[in-house]
Amino acid sequence: MRRIVKAAQGTAPAESRSEPRTVVAEIIADVRKRGDAAVRDHSARLDRWAPADFRLSERQIEESLSRVDRQTLADIREVQENVRGFAVRQRASLHDFEEEMQPGVLLGQRSIPVGSVGAYVPGGRYPLLASAHMTIVPAKVAGVRRVAACTPAGGGELPDATIAAIHLAGADEIYLLGGAQAVAALALGTESIERVDMLVGPGNAYVAEAKRQLFGEVGIDLFAGPTEVLIVADESADPFVVAVDLLSQAEHGPDSPAILVTTSGGLAEATLREVDEQLAKLPTRDVAGPAWRDHGQVIVVDGLDEAFAVSDEFASEHVQVLTQNPRLALDRLRNYGALFLGERTCVSFGDKVIGTNHVLPTRQAARYTGGLWVGMYLKTVTYQEVTTDAASAYLGELCGRAARAERFEGHARSGDLRAQPPGQRPAWA
Ligand code: NAD
Repeated sequence: MRRIVKAAQGTAPAESRSEPRTVVAEIIADVRKRGDAAVRDHSARLDRWAPADFRLSERQIEESLSRVDRQTLADIREVQENVRGFAVRQRASLHDFEEEMQPGVLLGQRSIPVGSVGAYVPGGRYPLLASAHMTIVPAKVAGVRRVAACTPAGGGELPDATIAAIHLAGADEIYLLGGAQAVAALALGTESIERVDMLVGPGNAYVAEAKRQLFGEVGIDLFAGPTEVLIVADESADPFVVAVDLLSQAEHGPDSPAILVTTSGGLAEATLREVDEQLAKLPTRDVAGPAWRDHGQVIVVDGLDEAFAVSDEFASEHVQVLTQNPRLALDRLRNYGALFLGERTCVSFGDKVIGTNHVLPTRQAARYTGGLWVGMYLKTVTYQEVTTDAASAYLGELCGRAARAERFEGHARSGDLRAQPPGQRPAWA
C-alpha cells in the first residue's frame, strides 16, 4: 500500500494547460500567413530579438568560437565524442536485410536518412549546449544531409558556448531564434528559412506544444517537454545523495517534477529534511524551490515490487535506482526514458556527458517511446521483388481472392494478371 509523505501542490504542468495551446496556435497561424515578418514580430515581442537576419554568418560563428574559453571547447569536443561513440554503436545495431521469405519472393528492409532536420536547442532559462550534442551529432551519424539548428538569442546576449557546440556538432545552418516562432519557421519555411522534413529537440511547454501542433506537416522526434526525475530507493540509499539528485533535476524549471518512491519511511523523512536544507543553499533555488513545492512527491511503498509498479505508472523521463541491487530494475521496469543504476551513476551524467541521449520522453510518453536516438533520423523502408513465374502466379491467385474479400476489384485484377501464364490475359480482359 502506498503512503504519500509529500504530495504535489501545484497545478498541472504548463504543457497540459490550455494557455500554451492558444498562444502557440496563434504564432503558428501568423508565421504561416506572414512568414519572416511574423517570425521577427514574435521574436521581438517574446525575446526582444529582431536582427536583420536570424541566420549566423560564418564570421559570426567564428567570433563566437573565439570568445569561448579553451577548456569549455575541449569539454564540448570530448562530450560530443562520447555522444558520437554511442550513436555509432547504435547505428551498427541496425541492419539492412534482404531475405527470400518463400521461394521466388525477396523481401527487404533498408534505412534511409531523413533529408533535412531542424534541431531545437533550448536556451530560455539556461544555455542548454548539451542539447546541441544530443540533437545534431546523431543526425550526422545517421547521414542527414542538412541540419538547421535554432537556439534563442538569450535577450540579445549571444550564447557563444551554445553556438560553438552547435557548430562543432556539425550543423549546416545556425539560426538565433527561439520558441514556437522558431519551430514554426523551420516546419513551415519562410522567405529566409527553408523548411525541414523533421524537427527534433527538447524545449519548454511552448516549444513542445508547437511541435505537437505541427506534427504531420513535419516529422517530430517525440514530446520532450519539462524534465522529470523519479528515484526508486530502499533503506540502503543515502538521503543526502537522494536529495542532491532530486534537486539536480528540479532546477530545470518550475514545472519539473522530482519524485521519490521508497520502501523506507525513515529515508522518506530524512530526504525531506535534506531537501529543505540543501534548497536553502542552492543558487538555483528560485527555480528548484517552486518545482519541489509544486511538483515534488515522496511516496512510501511496502516493497520493491510496489516501488517498480509505481515507477512504471509515472513512466518518468529519468528513473534513478538507488537500491542494494539496482540492476534488478533492468528486468523489472518497463516505462522510462532513461535508467540510471546505482549511486555512482547520476542523471546529470546522462544530461551532460556520458554519451546516451538526453532528449527523452516526458509526461508519460515513456509508455510508448524511448528517447531520441540515431534510429529516429532513419526511415525504415521496405522493398520486394518476385523473381519466379511460379511465385508470381501463386501470389496472384492469393491476391485476387484477398482483394475480392474486400471488394477491391482493381487490386484483384492486378493479382489475376500475375496468376496467368506469362503473356496470357485473364478472362475479364
Ligand atoms: P526554450 O528554448 O525551450 O524556450 C524559450 C523560448 O520560449 C523563448 O525563446 C520564447 O520565445 C518562448 N516563450 C517563453 N515564454 C513564452 C510565452 N509566454 N509565450 C510564448 N512563448 C514563450 O528554453 P527554456 O524555457 O529554458 O526551456 C527549456 C526546457 O527544456 C525546460 O523545460 C527543460 O526541462 C526542457 N528539457 C527537456 C529535455 C527532455 O529531454 N525532455 C531535455 C533538456 C531540457
